[in-house]
Amino acid sequence: MSLADLAPAPSAAAPEPARLRGWGGGPGVATWRLRPDRAEAFAGALAMLRERGGFSGALARGMGRSYGDAAQLSGGLVLEAGALCHVRLDPDTGVVAAGAGVTIGELLARLVPAGWMVPVVPGTQHVSVGGAIASDIHGKNHGIAGTFGQHVLALGLLCASGEELSLAAGDPLLDATLGGMGLTGVILWARIQLAPVSSPFLSVDTDRVGDLDGALAALRAPGGPHRVAWLDLLGSRPGRGVVTRAAPLAGAVVPPGTRGTATVRARAAVPARWPGALLQPATIRAFNELRLRRSPVRERGRVESIGAHMFPLDTLDAWPRLYGRAGLVQYQLVVPYGAEAVLDAVIGELRRARVPCYLAVLKDFGPPNGAPMSFPLAGWTLALDLPRAAAGLLGALERCDELVAGAGGRVYLSKDSRLRPDAVRAMYPRLAQWRTVRDRVDPDGVWRSDLALRTGLVASER
Ligand SMILES: Cc1cc2nc3c(=O)[nH]c(=O)nc-3n(C[C@H](O)[C@H](O)[C@H](O)COP(=O)(O)OP(=O)(O)OC[C@H]3O[C@@H](n4cnc5c(N)ncnc54)[C@H](O)[C@@H]3O)c2cc1C
Repeated sequence: MSLADLAPAPSAAAPEPARLRGWGGGPGVATWRLRPDRAEAFAGALAMLRERGGFSGALARGMGRSYGDAAQLSGGLVLEAGALCHVRLDPDTGVVAAGAGVTIGELLARLVPAGWMVPVVPGTQHVSVGGAIASDIHGKNHGIAGTFGQHVLALGLLCASGEELSLAAGDPLLDATLGGMGLTGVILWARIQLAPVSSPFLSVDTDRVGDLDGALAALRAPGGPHRVAWLDLLGSRPGRGVVTRAAPLAGAVVPPGTRGTATVRARAAVPARWPGALLQPATIRAFNELRLRRSPVRERGRVESIGAHMFPLDTLDAWPRLYGRAGLVQYQLVVPYGAEAVLDAVIGELRRARVPCYLAVLKDFGPPNGAPMSFPLAGWTLALDLPRAAAGLLGALERCDELVAGAGGRVYLSKDSRLRPDAVRAMYPRLAQWRTVRDRVDPDGVWRSDLALRTGLVASER
């Protein structure tokens, strides 16, 4: 079976002024936005950049789900890849060729009924293939599946020269593109090896835990490969929470009448004029208490759809608006196994600074891959949603950066909006290796982003 191509979106001829921001919200920045209607039109946009001048550089953008400033460029030309939306499956090999603008949700909706699963999915289905590669995203199953990039067999990259390169796995430029945050060029398409799947369901084991140590132990217990802990950090015992371990369910054992798909629909949306002040520690504390009490103390083999289990946040559209105009900072760190004390120390640092954490998620990672800027390393990753308006936030996070870097860990660039260059250098020891490969294909520094300029990933002068 071969899946038909999706219809191409209409062309956008000239760049239009736009205000772009990260998923975490905030005021955003003024940019020029262009949505080329086919792969060749990206090279045309580059030619325009060279001839017309007046832009601070260029950057590809997918679905804008990176939390900070990774997908924006103040005064620059932002090339949206949404129109690159072809999907072709080879049903015999489970290799899919997809345009960079196709989302994980679109892939799942088409591929799971055909018996194939995207091997690594993030916590939202609204992430593009280009964004998944540029951030080298991880899922709840990193321990067995690694990152998204490890399943990419080949990709098409539009370089700053206007040339389109076809890169195979193992090519140093492909490795530099994994986790390269769009700074090697525009990813146009990718060929991805899928994993066989027999139903859109998972079998889920759940344990309620009393503290952080309990969560770490439950994440290491035998069970399914999709592992995650939700933690309550606002209560009197920070770290109590709920741990789930999920495994694909064989089709034959789906209980009769069970319904579900590999994606979810938004059931509600937060209004644009939401009064952010309604989100307070007391409200979240009460919500967390309710969530804990409603969760079973110990449950085995509950059947849940992939969509409901993997993408719970997608049921509430535009949820960052809950944080009001200032938005949120997501701080995601990883520290090696053995450095568990740093998790406690980071939580303690934020509590001492009276920065409330409204959502905390803990996962375990397996070994890192060969891509120099890929985020995961073998250890624990903690993601914390923090209101940007909280006084003391930035100072507390700088102290956390020191703790994390000191333990040989790092902070995820795809979620970042405030790391300093010295912290990035300390956290990403293969930065110089990455720069050498990148500078070779972009000697004039065409590709840049606010993240790259702020953290010194690329030089500010051109
Ligand atoms: C609710 C939620 C849950 C999440 N869960 C996870 C998770 O579990 N694991 C995880 O790893 N991440 C997670 N993320 C982060 C998300 O997966 C990444 O930020 C991802 O890169 C977003 O993809 P996007 O299409 O929105 O890209 P954008 O946000 O638009 O861009 C992100 C980066 O990719 C680059 N880029 C985008 N498209 C291209 C292209 N075609 N060519 C070159 N560069 C490109 C951009 O320049 C930018 O640097 C989550 C985000 C949200 C909002």
